[in-house]
Amino acid sequence: MAETDPCQEEREEMVEFQILARGVRDRRVLAAMRKIPRHLFVPKGYERAAYEDRPLPIGEGQTISQPYIVAVMTEQLDLAPQDRVLEIGTGSGYQAALLAELAGTVISVERLADLADRARENLARAGVAGVRVVVGDGTQGYPPEAPYDAIIVTAASPTIPEPLIDQLAEGGRLIAPVGPRDCQDLIKLVKHEGRVETIPLGGVCFVPLIGQFGWQGDGYP
Ligand code: SAM
Repeated sequence: MAETDPCQEEREEMVEFQILARGVRDRRVLAAMRKIPRHLFVPKGYERAAYEDRPLPIGEGQTISQPYIVAVMTEQLDLAPQDRVLEIGTGSGYQAALLAELAGTVISVERLADLADRARENLARAGVAGVRVVVGDGTQGYPPEAPYDAIIVTAASPTIPEPLIDQLAEGGRLIAPVGPRDCQDLIKLVKHEGRVETIPLGGVCFVPLIGQFGWQGDGYP
């Protein structure tokens, strides 16, 4: 990919000025972000904006998150190569592609079938194997493959869905934006001997997680 990739330089700059400069230091995360072609995960016409310091629309009222936020969330998952990871909110498939670089098994659940189809196409175009995209209500987790060493939720809910905590393995890490509709706190949970430690990571703004254990519909109660 390296020499023929027209966006290699933009990715280097994204990592240096948006991610390293703001304190993300995990070498494996930085290498994955240098490698995954983010411009293949944005809609046609947005390729030139793919490496800018902001989220972008991906259709259906949804977004691909700002690169820095993706980096922070990924770093906080502390992934090892053999880990089993569950992502809730596939969106474009970009976050899932990074997870596949860093972990062993990646399952990603998306509520909207059209976005799930597009994400599968994006992942195939980017040459990323090893992500299983499932259509469904991710607030219920994905019990058939539980437990997970890491769970990342890329849409915001009023509280962390209880099934996700149940499906976290011993020693497992969960990252999720939690709070009101507009902006939220990024929360990390770590499960120790069945108990959960909660670590706040700062403010973020995500689209809503809609489902049984999240917001109850597009109208938000
Ligand atoms: N991780 C994505 C990426 O790399 O492009 C960005 C995700 S976008 C900010 C949030 C996604 O969560 C949207 O695609 C939305 O449809 C999805 N979503 C919302 N509620 C969901 C639910 N209950 N289960 C699964 N996905 C859900």
